[in-house]
Amino acid sequence: MALEDIKARCDEVGECWFWNGGCDSHGRPQKRHGGKTVYVRRLVRELADGQPVPPGLVVAAKCGHKRCVSPDCSVATTTRRKAQMAAKRGAYSSPAKAAKMARMKRAQSWITDEMVEQIRLAPGPSSRIAAETKVSLSHVKAIRRGSARRPIGTPFAGLGAR
Ligand SMILES: [Zn+2]
Repeated sequence: MALEDIKARCDEVGECWFWNGGCDSHGRPQKRHGGKTVYVRRLVRELADGQPVPPGLVVAAKCGHKRCVSPDCSVATTTRRKAQMAAKRGAYSSPAKAAKMARMKRAQSWITDEMVEQIRLAPGPSSRIAAETKVSLSHVKAIRRGSARRPIGTPFAGLGAR
């Protein structure tokens, strides 16, 4: 298995090689090689260097793209340094991470989904519901409008679809 064969299975974008083959459940490029399943980025690093990557090291993509297996982008490093690189790149403020944070925040909110449902369906003025539930009036209004606590996974909720 030569570098060129791996490159042939990638989309080249600048220095990056975006792998088109299989990935593990975390989206990391994987392939069968020598009877076992290996990480493609590590394999490319080893082919490019002509020697194995030391067992204690991981092979990270400097460009930050999970699917990139380019030898120009990869570097053998420690898990700790890899995390530092990711933090520097702002991997922890990506939209996916932000959505996860929002869900976590919601899970920790004292206003339960049952209360939200109750606020949404309760008859009468928002001010009375706010007094009864101890939820602020503006938040009650936002919930009833559908601009707050929209059910996750139903994109049409709050747009008038009921
Ligand atoms: Zn890259």
